[in-house]
Order: sequence, then structure tokens, then C-alpha cells
Amino acid sequence: MSVLADRFGRVARDLRVSLTDRCNLRCTYCMPEEGLAWMPREQQLTDAEVGRLIRIAVEQLGVTQVRFTGGEPVIRRGLTGIIAAAAALKPRPKLSITTNGIGLDRLAAPLRDAGLNRVNVSLDTLSPARFQQLTYRDRHADVLKGLAGAARAGLTPVKINTVLMRGVNDDEAPELLRFALDHGYELRFIEQMPLDAQHQWDRHQMVTAEAILASLEPFGLVADSVSRGTAPAETWLVPGYVDAAGNPARVGVIGSVTRPFCGDCDRTRLTADGQVRNCLFATEESDLRGLLRSGGSDAAIAKAWQVAMWGKRAGHGIDDPSFLQPARPMSAIGG
Ligand code: SAM
Repeated sequence: MSVLADRFGRVARDLRVSLTDRCNLRCTYCMPEEGLAWMPREQQLTDAEVGRLIRIAVEQLGVTQVRFTGGEPVIRRGLTGIIAAAAALKPRPKLSITTNGIGLDRLAAPLRDAGLNRVNVSLDTLSPARFQQLTYRDRHADVLKGLAGAARAGLTPVKINTVLMRGVNDDEAPELLRFALDHGYELRFIEQMPLDAQHQWDRHQMVTAEAILASLEPFGLVADSVSRGTAPAETWLVPGYVDAAGNPARVGVIGSVTRPFCGDCDRTRLTADGQVRNCLFATEESDLRGLLRSGGSDAAIAKAWQVAMWGKRAGHGIDDPSFLQPARPMSAIGG
């Protein structure tokens, strides 16, 4: 089998598929309150086109994990069918979604039955009032219900993604961790990245991995002996707690900016309009939709995907003076 290799010896096996650029929240670090100009429907890949690209990635290019994201993947009508089609592939990839959790209380069981293995739910605050300030929507209770629904459906370990912002919710790190531990969820703090549509990211305002760990000092975290491998999160054990499966509880920190893990990156990304991105911060994309719609063969599409990945840069370059934020914001790339 061919693989998605690059010039630096990395091989991409983890495919992130954005199913839509639309979202039902307006997280301030991602999107403006009024939303964005959404991708025209005809530009978005159909369910069958998404399914074909995933099949090529799995059967011909060695992809072993597929994570659906967006925008908000749960608002994509065909989500269950797309997951079922991916679950039917051989070898069967591991399937997960990153979601804001809204609607998951109803959808978790059908998604599990379709073949979904796991979820990451984004939650930045335990306060409904702050949630509304942060997302411009009054949906905090729905997110909590979604988390509970995912756990009930056995989509475990249920992970929570949290972005901390200085003066907004950075005082909540210990409470968020306690909440996660009490419910058997695994919390991941993510450093805020320069991927907001408004281009307001400011390195000096970012809550660093170091600051996050300092605020968790009362928990007496212990370095995790399990190797991180290609995972973005560094993890720590939380003494005195176990997870839903009875294993020692963990907390993770994704230090994308201050502790980059590009050297171990095994991700390849597909946008909702069929563009391959070899990095979250790539400024160039490779068009697979054009090939799909002009009758390209599976072999031609696989080749184009390989060429796109070969050009992956050694690192995201946020620290380079020449760093340019990608034209697409996070919501249109797929986080
Ligand atoms: N709507 C889904 C959700 O809320 O999880 C999936 C898409 S969202 C873009 C994926 C993840 O990216 C979320 O956990 C979100 O908090 C995170 N995210 C968005 N913008 C970010 C930024 N500028 N820096 C760091 N993480 C960001």
C-alpha cells in the first residue's frame, strides 16, 4: 500500500475531515458574532464524495483514524450515513468526532450504532452566563446534556476540549478539571492558536501550557509514563482519581504554540469543499474536488493526495517572523 509520507519522514495516518464550515455557536476565538460567509452548497462535497475520499485514504493510503469536525459536524444531515460508510471500510478505521455537543444527547446512540467510536466535546466554561458571552448562544445546558449522552452511549473515553483565554475563563482551569474528573471525562486544555476569523489572536494574551499547568498545581499532577506518540496532548496523571474505565485519570495539555509537536504530526486534513491541507497552518491547499468532479480515477486522486502531503513543511512556523495566518479560519479548516 502507498502511504501519505512527507520529506521529513512523517507518515500521515490520521485524517481530519471537515463536514461543514457552518456552526451553531460563535466562540469568540473562532468566529465573529455575525457568523461568516458560508461556503456555497454546491462547493461542499456530497456525502458520496466524502465517502469516496475516505475510502481512498483508508484503502489506498494507509489512513487508520478518521475524525469528523467542522464547523459543527453534528449539523451535517448525512453524518450518520457518512460514519456508517466509513465504518464499513476494510481495514476499519477508528472513527471519532469533535463537536460542541449540542444535539449529542439524541444523536450519540445512533452515531454509535453507525460505527462512531469516540467524541471530543468542546466546553470552555462551567458558567451558563459566561458560555453565552463566549459563544453568543444560550446553549450551555445542551452541551452538558450532550456530554452525558455521549458517556451513556459508551462513546468513551469522552474527552473535553477547553481553550482558556486571559481574563475570560482562565480562572476556571481547576473547576473544569474537577468537573471532568467527577464525571469520568478526560480534559484537554488547548493553547489558543492564530486561527480566528477576526485575526485578533495575540501571543501575549494567550494562556500558555506553562500557565495552565501552574494553575493545576493543587492537583499534584504526575508525569505520565505512557509515551505521547503522535498525539498532540502531553498528559499527566491526576492522583486520587480514576477514569470511567477504572484506569488512573489523566489530564492533557495541547501546547500547539509554545510546545509544538510538528515533528510527530501524523495528520492530513480535508476541508468540506474537498481541499487537502497538509497542516492546520498551511497557506496552500490541493484540490481533490476538481479531480473528483472531472472523472478522476481513484489512483489519480490518491497520487494528488500524496503529492500534497509530500510538500508538508517541517513546522507550523508560528514563531517565524515570516509567519502568515492561513486565509481560512479554524471553522473552515476543521479543528
Ligand atoms: N464545532 C466543533 C467543536 O466545537 O468542537 C468542531 C470544530 S472546532 C473548530 C474544533 C476545536 O477547535 C474546538 O475544540 C475549539 O475549541 C477549537 N478551536 C477553535 N478555534 C481555536 C483557536 N483559535 N485556537 C485553539 N483552538 C481552537
